[in-house]
Amino acid sequence: MGEAEQSFSSITISKACANIEADLSNHLPPWKESSLSQKVHISILYFLICLPVIVLLSVVIGGYIIYVTLYIYYLIADGDDTPEIYYWHSDTEKENARIRGIIFLVIQTWSLFWFLISHGRAMFTDPGQIPDSRQWEVPSDGNSESSEDQKRLAERSKKGYSRSCNHCKKKKPDRTHHCRQCNRCNLKMDHHCNWIANCVGFFNYKYFFVMVFYGSVLLGLFIATFWECVVVILHDSDSSTELCLFVVLSYSLISLLGIAVIGFCFFHIWQMRNNYTTIEFCEKKRKDVPGYNKSPFDRGGWYENFKEALGDKPWMWLFPTNYRTPDGGLYFK
Ligand SMILES: [Zn+2]
Ligand SMILES: [Zn+2]
Repeated sequence: MGEAEQSFSSITISKACANIEADLSNHLPPWKESSLSQKVHISILYFLICLPVIVLLSVVIGGYIIYVTLYIYYLIADGDDTPEIYYWHSDTEKENARIRGIIFLVIQTWSLFWFLISHGRAMFTDPGQIPDSRQWEVPSDGNSESSEDQKRLAERSKKGYSRSCNHCKKKKPDRTHHCRQCNRCNLKMDHHCNWIANCVGFFNYKYFFVMVFYGSVLLGLFIATFWECVVVILHDSDSSTELCLFVVLSYSLISLLGIAVIGFCFFHIWQMRNNYTTIEFCEKKRKDVPGYNKSPFDRGGWYENFKEALGDKPWMWLFPTNYRTPDGGLYFK
């Protein structure tokens, strides 16, 4: 978990979701074999897993609608219903407001569009599993290397053996971790993200980062400009108490989310620069390893590290496009 996301009470959410998913996988039968009351129970559990996703999308889409209808509309349109304080002193001021409004509208719409696409791709892309091939089976003595390839693995147990997962009964490639919530191992696992109801790993990390990036732009511009609308509505004698309360609460709630998302975005830029996953960063930090900002997988420069995380073409870094080959994620330079 990233620092910013942790501050956003996700530890509690994580624990709750882990319990929900443990219920689903251990205590409840599959859907077809379950009774009506169990089906109701399963449906409620699935709803709870989807709840953070619903909350996130509602806040982001709702914030966009509020921004456009209560702010952008008055900057661009020249209607009779414009609050008095929005009347500009000169035609130049009015024209400037209009241009500003159009620029904000374009940025917000562009960001929302890519946010939603990358959120969908991050949510529905498999983060990457250990292949079923014999190469990754745990040998009968548990520890010996079952293939020449495994001798290439850098991460080792304390005794120097290649790592294996007790739950999945497979050898673990480097940077692979077992997720309790997904109940499986994920390649280059970054963290389990309840806001996309999926793990972030080798195949969907880029989508996740692009989502966080556009979320930061969207919410950052909201925080930086919407205060103007809040001031106008609070000063307008025609505003009802309900409207005042609504804009103040919306601005506060969306700003809180925005600050967390922007902090999280910078944290991930730092991680990509140093070729870390969130789990690796937290492990090193917890163990207080000196010089923990140097990863063993560092490729020797920020540009190479960004290419490893986002692809070889820098002009495609901020679009949720796929660049991973299907056999990737098992070995790292
Ligand atoms: Zn596992
Ligand atoms: Zn997971």
